Amino acid sequence: MPRLVVVTTGGTIATSADADGVLRPVHGGAELVAGHDAQVIDLFTLDSSQLTPAEWVRIADTVTEAATGADGVVVTHGTDSMEETALWLELTYGGAAPVVVTGAARSADAPDADGPANLRDALAVAASPQARGRGVLICFAGWVRPALGTTKVGGPDLFGGTAPVGRVGEGSVEWTGGTGRAYLGPIAEAVRVDIVAAYPGADGTAVDAFVDAGAAGLVVEAMGAGNAGTPVIEAVRRACARGVAVAVTTRVPGGPTAAAYGPGHDLVRAGAVLVPRLRSSQARVLMTAALSAGLSVADIVARLG
Ligand code: ASP
Repeated sequence: MPRLVVVTTGGTIATSADADGVLRPVHGGAELVAGHDAQVIDLFTLDSSQLTPAEWVRIADTVTEAATGADGVVVTHGTDSMEETALWLELTYGGAAPVVVTGAARSADAPDADGPANLRDALAVAASPQARGRGVLICFAGWVRPALGTTKVGGPDLFGGTAPVGRVGEGSVEWTGGTGRAYLGPIAEAVRVDIVAAYPGADGTAVDAFVDAGAAGLVVEAMGAGNAGTPVIEAVRRACARGVAVAVTTRVPGGPTAAAYGPGHDLVRAGAVLVPRLRSSQARVLMTAALSAGLSVADIVARLG
């Protein structure tokens, strides 16, 4: 029998409605994993919107320890910030045992709860010999995707942004693609990185405030191909002059960035790095990991962004 460990953190997969009908994560791992042969580590019972980079570090430490002597690890997690935690794990966990992150779109007390099937699928993926060495995967609604590039997009599959690398159902996994690793190294403490939206009429208030608050890096979620108004560009120039790393993403779903227009070109000249592909949520995680590890943001974005 493969040796599997399930690390629980909360999320819809662990929720039931309270007396007011509000969904609260209340179910621990013993309930979720009942009927499966897996060791349980209950870490948090939290809505994933409550997690911070400090919790990413704790989850990564727990997973790294659990993976020693295990064939696979499953992490149950809320979907709201699954893309952040999964990427943090991918960047900071270097083991051979696969780590499979899953959750649910519907609560545990819903008549059509999807958590049990997602957990069963995730365990099947974690137990698959072909999963070994693949790093961190997101398993949801029967699809297996790499952590890097996968985000919550809504719709029946809930997650997208990447091509699936596997299909899973009824305990069997069909692998359809390869996965590269994006491992940077273990990280004990995460620096502060914030996200700023650039929109018509935005000024530099948010950029300046985050720099004053001690941000080591900023993600500017820009318009179009990576454009922002002049006051934001000037604030980015001030931030870069103070040693803060700035990366630019776009608010266009699926849109790539390019310094094709004047404002995007000026952002790059001000010292910002364009992130070609990742959404702001994951660009922030990538930047947090790079800065926390003392690595060049430009190099890491060129390799993984
Ligand atoms: N609010 C929930 C969470 O992220 C949503 C979910 O799990 O689907 O914890």
